[in-house]
Amino acid sequence: MIDTLNPRTPPSTTATPFSDYRDLDARTLEEIITSVKDRLGRSLLVLGHHYQQDEVIRHADLTGDSLKLSQLAGRNRVCQAIVFCGVHFMAETADILSAPEVSVHLPDRAAGCSMADMADVESVETAWAELAQHLDVDQITPVTYINSSAALKSFCGRHGGIVCTSSNARKILDWALGRRPRVLFFPDQHLGRNTAKAMGIALDRMAVWDPREPLGGNTGASIQDHQILLWKGHCSVHQMFKPGHIDQFRRLEPSGKVLVHPECMMEVVDAADLVGSTEFIINTIDQAEPCSSWGVGTELHLVNRLAKRHPDKSIRFLSPMVCMCSTMYRIDPPHLAWCLANLERGTPINRIQVDAETARWARVALDRMLELG
Ligand code: SF4
Repeated sequence: MIDTLNPRTPPSTTATPFSDYRDLDARTLEEIITSVKDRLGRSLLVLGHHYQQDEVIRHADLTGDSLKLSQLAGRNRVCQAIVFCGVHFMAETADILSAPEVSVHLPDRAAGCSMADMADVESVETAWAELAQHLDVDQITPVTYINSSAALKSFCGRHGGIVCTSSNARKILDWALGRRPRVLFFPDQHLGRNTAKAMGIALDRMAVWDPREPLGGNTGASIQDHQILLWKGHCSVHQMFKPGHIDQFRRLEPSGKVLVHPECMMEVVDAADLVGSTEFIINTIDQAEPCSSWGVGTELHLVNRLAKRHPDKSIRFLSPMVCMCSTMYRIDPPHLAWCLANLERGTPINRIQVDAETARWARVALDRMLELG
């Protein structure tokens, strides 16, 4: 039974189950979400990632990429609870950066990130120990993309490492290589390779580290020659774009421009006209000339939203296949309504809380990045 539409229902100590919300029609869910938001006012902050579906993102108080949202969460001095319509690592980062009295909730705990899961901290600790048998690990800076678990950020904090985003990866790699001669970059090999290549680092100075192979698939001798070790991880969404999709777009739109995210493979990035983070992609399209034509290689919901927002421009999704973030898609109106209703009832669900020690070191790695601007 749902009592959210009837605030006079006496307080309960038991959370209402998700099954109460799963089959509700769209109108009722909309009513629950908007009415709870109205009643909770500024004590509640709903954050929506750009890749989120329209039915969810329209309820967000703030939208952005993962870092922007976490920073906004950290700066908010009014809210008591944050509902993060994103994926697990984003909610963890918001918990680390927000005030201790603020609770962070993820409407569906199963909303993870397949890329972040490719570098679990146990495998990273094993890799570090293996590397220590062949190299001086004090001469390696671990760099993690923000799309990673709090435990991995904490590992970086403890080992003199740092966090990066797709906007600042170059600046962060510059910083890291200015301090120590080698970098271990995780979890996304493509962002690491594309960034290092753009900095002029030759491909033969980079090696892939496959955590399923002894010494990451390298030899003790070969590992000495490499400056950048790229963890073998990828984004299942951006990995689906292929150079052939760009050829196809160029045949259809010879004067069009191709704009892709740096999580795409190197061959796609090399063939594109422009490469940049989610915020860069949005700004580029927002500022593009009317009647201009674009092939965009990033998450489907975002591209569709950009196309709707700019009917005066031709905006095509680069792939003929559906490339959407299926884990983020788990946050749907029933989960959002369930989460908000239980928050209001005083029976909060799905709180994401990083333990104090992990948060302390993860914060060190995040602060190193934030201090670089
Ligand atoms: S789009 Fe890729 S990197 Fe981003 S949350 Fe989804 S799986 Fe993770």
